[in-house]
Amino acid sequence: MNLHDLQALDRAHHLHPFTDFKALGEEGSRIITRAEGVYIHDSEGNGILDGMAGLWCVNLGYGREELVAAATRQLRELPYYNNFFKTTHPPAVRLAEKLCQLAPEHVNHVFFTGSGSEANDTVLRMVRRYWALKGKPEKQWIISRENAYHGSTVAGMSLGGMAPMHAQGGPLVPGISHVRQPYWFGEGRDQSPKAFGRACAAAIEARILELGEDNVAAFIAEPVQGAGGAIMPPASYWPAVKEVLAKYDMLLVVDEVICGFGRLGEWFGSQYYDLEPDLMPIAKGLSSGYLPIGGVLLGDRVAETLIEEGGEFFHGFTYSGHPACAAVALKNLEIMQAEGVVERVRDDLGPYLAERWGELTEHPLVGEARSLGLMGALELVADKASGRRFDKRLAAGNLCRDLCFASGLVMRSVGDTMIIAPPLVITREQIDELVALARRALDETATRLAE
Ligand code: PLP
Repeated sequence: MNLHDLQALDRAHHLHPFTDFKALGEEGSRIITRAEGVYIHDSEGNGILDGMAGLWCVNLGYGREELVAAATRQLRELPYYNNFFKTTHPPAVRLAEKLCQLAPEHVNHVFFTGSGSEANDTVLRMVRRYWALKGKPEKQWIISRENAYHGSTVAGMSLGGMAPMHAQGGPLVPGISHVRQPYWFGEGRDQSPKAFGRACAAAIEARILELGEDNVAAFIAEPVQGAGGAIMPPASYWPAVKEVLAKYDMLLVVDEVICGFGRLGEWFGSQYYDLEPDLMPIAKGLSSGYLPIGGVLLGDRVAETLIEEGGEFFHGFTYSGHPACAAVALKNLEIMQAEGVVERVRDDLGPYLAERWGELTEHPLVGEARSLGLMGALELVADKASGRRFDKRLAAGNLCRDLCFASGLVMRSVGDTMIIAPPLVITREQIDELVALARRALDETATRLAE
């Protein structure tokens, strides 16, 4: 089947996630047919450097035969069985053990789900169950952040703070309150990063007091906000947030769906920021995206309560800990350990990306270039001196993203913030290539915007 036939069928029958259905119909979609290493290939045979690791998930890169072998072996042996009603199977048990070895010391249990969104639905239920068991059912409020992304189910979308999602979603799950995000470039430049980070933490405390400290159940956040714009908080933020949370009897939920499994140069983003979460939703890089799997890692405080005091937890998914997905995830983690992938991000590739990516600060279109581990962002500005943004109608970010793709690099745009999060197996030479392609796209964007 040729490209045009596929595009016509796509247009006729397929509604894509996070896509303007009508615009797709007019333009036709890009069709990706295969991938190898850090490159995806389209139906025209073009190789494109995948600067986003799919959707921040293909941490080991494409074409890993060991993962294919782990899936096929497991599919032959036991393609499906569940973990309900006191049954289980070896891949789920072995993956649970491996995850608890890698997680912070106080984390010794996992509940499997099929995705990150399901993991956050599970978090919501666990938080409420925990406080009910503790005899404090009035603890209902969960504090989250504006512009956070925690998934697309109703609970995930409500926990998240994305205004356009809320606007389309009808009534949200009640009991969730959003505070300002620690996005210094976007919202805090009238203060120093240090003062702004502290102010954002103080906003959490103010909200706790407003809601009534006895009514607040938990705070949820990503270590670094991913989909919101690769927002690395000012260095003062997490220490100040920890101080605030320590004063109140509430749980900390750290969403590790993007930051987990090496993205920031540690197994978990919580370790980078020295956090002690009670609950950690995980997904994506857990299986390098080869098969869908997620879960919630539980700290001892919550796990012991649910186990000792909870009785049956009426919650679970048909694919919670699916055998083939668990087998692939286990192999993925084993390979990451054996090849020292996380350490390489921390000691070599992360610092190298910071150096090369930082050079883009010189570009006339770039107001800020930031990175941490293998996650980076560029802030596009119309005027470098003042940091003034482009008129929204110009859609500069989307223009840059499309020019990037055409020149052979996947970068994502969130408004006028350009994001990268390449596979963790990228080489230094490929980082050079990524930076050169990004620079070329910036040049072309500048030319187009000047026309
Ligand atoms: N949490 C975070 C931080 C995410 O970035 C995502 C997805 O991008 C999710 C949760 C939802 O995960 P999934 O798409 O697997 O449902």
